Amino acid sequence: MEKKQFKAESKRLLDMMINSIYTHREIFLRELISNASDAIDKIYYRALTDDKLTFEKDSYYIKIESDRENRMLQITDTGIGMTKEELEENLGVIAKSGSLAFKSENEMKDGCDIIGQFGVGFYSAFMVADKVRVTSRALGSDAAYRWESDGLDGYTVEKCEKDSVGTLIELKIKENTEDENFDEYLDQYSIKSIVKRYSDFIRYPIKMEMKES
Ligand code: ADP
Ligand code: MG
Repeated sequence: MEKKQFKAESKRLLDMMINSIYTHREIFLRELISNASDAIDKIYYRALTDDKLTFEKDSYYIKIESDRENRMLQITDTGIGMTKEELEENLGVIAKSGSLAFKSENEMKDGCDIIGQFGVGFYSAFMVADKVRVTSRALGSDAAYRWESDGLDGYTVEKCEKDSVGTLIELKIKENTEDENFDEYLDQYSIKSIVKRYSDFIRYPIKMEMKES
């Protein structure tokens, strides 16, 4: 599989985030949840003008699952999904910030929204994960694609299977070191409190499934 390189600006920003922003690391979850919510908004707005599409409120949600043993955190959404091209375009370049306008004031309330302001939301996942995998199937498509990256030197995209439209984000949470502990991003109580603190205003249900070991 061919490995593609991040654009230079993205690389610099990635380095900056991974190496210098150690405080408020937990906002990665807010960023991923806000992307999930934006993706559901997009289906919602599409349904307003497309007669063939109905928005069944109950079928749209965000789900967070953690697996402590394997240090995996997953965020699933039933939003609009991404095509192969969109995966490459949206996740391969940091400067894109198509949905900045969707961001609510709530997100700014703790005064620490550097990452959000620069629209580098998605990449904040690399503050807590050493591998990120995005599996997505776009609305109106049968094909699904998987984007994968270690955040350091590029990403791969391959075809895969996915039963339903939407996006699954899998984070391999970093191993703890002497100075740093990442366990809170796998613990159901801390995850709940992070969600409550930063994503309380999200208007779609956020479901949680925790596998404790
Ligand atoms: P922003 O949300 O400010 O645009 P991000 O870095 O958070 O910046 O996300 C980049 C882009 O990737 C989004 O604009 C969106 O097009 C796409 N994207 C990210 N996550 C998802 C998702 N869960 N579903 C669909 N598209 C997504
Ligand atoms: Mg975002």
